[in-house]
Amino acid sequence: MAYSEVPTASTEAIKFAFLTDEEVRQHSSLTVTDPSFLTQLGNPVAGGLYDKALGPIDYKPGESCGTCGEKSRNCPGHCGHIDLALPVYNPLLFNTLYKLLQRMCFFCYHFRTDRTHVEKAVSQLKLIMEGDIVGAKMLDSDSPSEYSDCNEGDSHNDKRAKQQRWTSFQFTELMSVFDKALPKQGKDCNNCQAKNPKISEPTFGWFQMV
Ligand SMILES: [Zn+2]
Ligand SMILES: [Zn+2]
Repeated sequence: MAYSEVPTASTEAIKFAFLTDEEVRQHSSLTVTDPSFLTQLGNPVAGGLYDKALGPIDYKPGESCGTCGEKSRNCPGHCGHIDLALPVYNPLLFNTLYKLLQRMCFFCYHFRTDRTHVEKAVSQLKLIMEGDIVGAKMLDSDSPSEYSDCNEGDSHNDKRAKQQRWTSFQFTELMSVFDKALPKQGKDCNNCQAKNPKISEPTFGWFQMV
């Protein structure tokens, strides 16, 4: 990675991000597969929520953690995860979807903003995909002629092919590019000149065209 995620002496900013599926699995100590807690004898069910891999059970003094081997006093507790049978929408991401819908055209299916903005955003996203967050930020102040080269060249495609998975850090940067490079447009599409409907804010996962 070309960017640094190490902590510095002073905190300048804090960002919260969504972990990707891969990151959740990396941090997970257990795939939870059983909804039961305890067997009839009072022992933890393997793969259940009391599985020792998540930490020692409080009511069993002297018990060690199945992941770090520490007793309950020193074990911080460990995360597990549940593999869902089907993909589901994350309700916390509805606002991201709302932002996308406000910027896309319902007639030509392109972004409503003009091509120059879109090409700049694409160049920045390509750099973020390759891990070059600094390079992507530098494009913020560049003129169109300075970033047009980023759309060409096999080396970029090669790097992108090698790194297909996004980290939560990259996703956060992506959203910031999205806000800056593709500002919210009026109803008129700069691409096809069609007038788009207004989209209501999401309510319980529903959007309405007004
Ligand atoms: Zn532990
Ligand atoms: Zn359009």
